[in-house]
Amino acid sequence: MKPELTEITGEGAASAVLEARPRIGFVSLGCPKNLVDSEVMMGLLNQAGAEITGEPETADILVVNTCSFIDKAKQESIDTILQMAQHKVSGKAQKLIVAGCLVERYRDEIRKNMPEVDAVVGTGELEAILAAAGLAPAQAPPMEPQLFSILPSTSRPEGDLRESQGRFAREQWEGAEARLPQYLYDHTTPRLLATQKSSAYIKIAEGCDHPCSFCVIPNLRGKFRSRRFASVVAEAEQLVAQGVRELTLIGQDTTCYGEDLGMKDGLAQLLDSLARIPDLKWLRFLYAYPNKVTGRLLDTIARHDNICKYLDMPLQHASAAVLKRMRRGGNADIFLKTIERVRSTVPGVAIRTTFITGFPGETEADFAILSDFIRAAQLDWLGVFSYSDEEGSGAFDLSEKVPARTIEARRRSLMRQQQAISRKSRARLVGRRFDLLVEGPSEETPLLWEGRTEHQAPEIDGKVYINDFGPLDQLTPGQFYECEITESQDYDLVGRIVL
Ligand code: SF4
Repeated sequence: MKPELTEITGEGAASAVLEARPRIGFVSLGCPKNLVDSEVMMGLLNQAGAEITGEPETADILVVNTCSFIDKAKQESIDTILQMAQHKVSGKAQKLIVAGCLVERYRDEIRKNMPEVDAVVGTGELEAILAAAGLAPAQAPPMEPQLFSILPSTSRPEGDLRESQGRFAREQWEGAEARLPQYLYDHTTPRLLATQKSSAYIKIAEGCDHPCSFCVIPNLRGKFRSRRFASVVAEAEQLVAQGVRELTLIGQDTTCYGEDLGMKDGLAQLLDSLARIPDLKWLRFLYAYPNKVTGRLLDTIARHDNICKYLDMPLQHASAAVLKRMRRGGNADIFLKTIERVRSTVPGVAIRTTFITGFPGETEADFAILSDFIRAAQLDWLGVFSYSDEEGSGAFDLSEKVPARTIEARRRSLMRQQQAISRKSRARLVGRRFDLLVEGPSEETPLLWEGRTEHQAPEIDGKVYINDFGPLDQLTPGQFYECEITESQDYDLVGRIVL
């Protein structure tokens, strides 16, 4: 008999409470922002009495936290759901819960067409995971009022304007709820870290107010909203007290942090406070919007030794015509000046960006501008995405779609170009010494260990492989060592420990 799909709400929780301590397996797909949502859901479940397991075959309940950013991510989400559903047939699992962005986009479709799925939980209702799993919420700890009353909660004028223009509307999305997510966790919310003990993400804001025409994230995640300053600081202090030494601040656009709370240069202020936490060795943030990279932000990065000299600034394109159709603005000259400003204020900084090839209307001339830009900018890290035509995005309705083969050929061409740039810049690092956060034995081969310098963000950039422990017999994962680079590859480095 096929299980009936039920979306359990908080009210239904009491009757559905499981008697024994259930084992719950989690699969988290997509970006670090989704990973933090998974960590919050695991924390809530754990606090309510569940045991979290990494072995799906022994789990009573399976949760797939999905990504729905582009078609490829949706397909991976669906494949994973179907794969996990097999554990209900041949394994121990009694329940399959689907959470995340796919639910925000296709809530009704999942309920109608995936009978294997027992419950769905959107990104704006993470606490509903308890009811979905049949658990009663644990008693919430009393709030610390001073952390919540510092500034009134409002929204950004840009967000209000774009809302009135229909930016966040989901009407054309069959199967989605009209209500936008509002949820934002805080420092009192339980979280079970899925990252290495020494490294953790902190989500400082949720949602996005920007109008980028290729992107449906604002429709999925809602309007931009910042966490309270004191709550972020409190969470950072708690994580450092637990042994975390590297904090990575995330959000769709961290450079807007605090604008909805009436702050100016909120991210710079936040970094300045967090950098003062004793024992915090590395602090970084991801996803800077190019025109929000202010002098004060750069000065703050330069001023603190423990703020990583690293900037992830997605530019998306370099042709003014394409950027205009993307509804982002800017051009190659402006971006080169920004990069120059970043490099002169923060010497030795590593810069990462991402581009999209094949946006509707991208001509050979536009692509040549992008290619030239890559050569001129000589960036440290580059990701190139093929344009994905997402229903509900502004770009979906644009004409002059670029053929799939051209999109892919352009993507490969940029990656080849970057490979040569990267090879040369890695070669220049041979003989230099860096602080290295050792992560453990390499996933590639047991003969090597691996780690990262401040110029390599977790899970995104290249690694440093360690083939020589120098004066030491063994290394401890999560500890910092001094390392000398002895060889370079296209993207990765090889080093030996010197201290
Ligand atoms: S800034 Fe990023 S998340 Fe926001 S709309 Fe643009 S691409 Fe999407």
